[in-house]
Amino acid sequence: MAAEAKHFKYVILGGGVAAGYAAREFGKQGVNPGELAIISKEPVAPYERPALSKGYLFPENAARLPGFHTCVGSGGERLLPEWYSEKGIELILSTEIVKADLASKTLTSAAGATFTYETLLIATGSSVIKLTDFGVQGAESNNILYLRDIADADKLVAAMQAKKDGKVVIVGGGYIGLELSAALKMNNFDVTMVYPEPWCMPRLFTSGIAHFYEGYYSNKGIKIVKGTVAAGFEADANGDVTAVKLKDGRVLEADIVVVGVGGRPLTALFKGQVAEEKGGLKTDAFFETNVPGVYAIGDVATFPLKLYNEQRRVEHVDHARKSAEQAVRAIKAKESGESVAEYDYLPYFYSRSFDIAWQFYGDNVGDDVLFGDNDPASANHKFGSYWVKDGKVVGVFLEGGSAEENQAIARVARAQPVVADVEALKTEGLEFAAKV
Ligand code: FAD
Repeated sequence: MAAEAKHFKYVILGGGVAAGYAAREFGKQGVNPGELAIISKEPVAPYERPALSKGYLFPENAARLPGFHTCVGSGGERLLPEWYSEKGIELILSTEIVKADLASKTLTSAAGATFTYETLLIATGSSVIKLTDFGVQGAESNNILYLRDIADADKLVAAMQAKKDGKVVIVGGGYIGLELSAALKMNNFDVTMVYPEPWCMPRLFTSGIAHFYEGYYSNKGIKIVKGTVAAGFEADANGDVTAVKLKDGRVLEADIVVVGVGGRPLTALFKGQVAEEKGGLKTDAFFETNVPGVYAIGDVATFPLKLYNEQRRVEHVDHARKSAEQAVRAIKAKESGESVAEYDYLPYFYSRSFDIAWQFYGDNVGDDVLFGDNDPASANHKFGSYWVKDGKVVGVFLEGGSAEENQAIARVARAQPVVADVEALKTEGLEFAAKV
């Protein structure tokens, strides 16, 4: 039988967050049946990836598909597979593209099917960095897990059922490390976190911010081992992991290990075909690459961040959503000879675990000014941080903010107000934000 060959006006390569939001925008702007396809390695329609490290792992009422298909994460319509078929948008699932030839506008799948397009949106996201990539001894043992997609999440859920109330070592102190430690603790596991840095989330958190989260986690019974890394693993006769050997010589017993040490944008298919910058596919303010008709959105795009006048790559869900919408609007506007405004993004990151939640807007550069009560033992903990550069507030972090307060800190980060007295900012705290 000849391999399948299909043609679409628009192809979205990747079926994650950016793909789901791009499809919704195509739906809003108008797309004819048969014009648009989403090609995804995953077996399910686009969903809100952040749910995998949060609701998906809850001990009770865990989130499951179809509950968190895009675009529910931003309060929008939930696009079920039927939505795509009603619109005539083809979901080509469980299909990995292994070759992209941009000159002939052809994508080839692992099974040899070919897909041609007029406009391509690259939305391949990121892959996780694995300890096997560095040849860490024993890293291929069973129950050493990662979390990127729904198949990974299901493996983790199965391991949690098989090793009930057991010992978990979490390798990495970033988003995944913090959210998964909390989730596993809530499932009654004995949890130890290990990371080499002096405090958790060092790329965003200051020591004052981390002081709260590390204390809060310790109070929940999570053990934290800092300043060392996993150097090897021990396994039993079945190949199941039993212990983590740390570089400093300590050995931690483990029934499950979850590794969250970062990701890499999936750009390899386009090497030598699309201009790159800062590890991503370089785009303009409309997410078009240097190859006409080829767009890159979400984690893979390095785009002009107008507010800071520099090219950036952002691996966060808010940008995945907004870049997708911007690209589709720009594509449709171009077709009708119109134009859209340049992307003018305000970086926004957030995380939730246990009953705590933080938001951050802007840029964490310059001097940081901690305000509020960051005592993890305090019943009224509420705190934040401003970042001040060249006399202006450029970034704001807030733990435990109300919707209104979070909107206020977003306004501050966007407006970049001048600060006459940095010491006063510390005492004023959130009141400063409320006045902007
Ligand atoms: P993705 O959503 O990763 O989608 C990429 C898609 O492309 C996937 O379906 C993948 O299978 C597919 N694909 C890749 N290569 C191919 C190929 N060759 N052929 C076919 N299909 C392919 N961000 C936050 O701001 N807040 C959070 O709380 C948060 N939590 C997170 C929790 C987890 C567990 C993870 C993994 C990420 C989290 N993020 C969070 C980050 C956020 O989810 C990503 O930034 C966002 O998903 C990026 O969207 P994307 O569409 O670019 O990539």
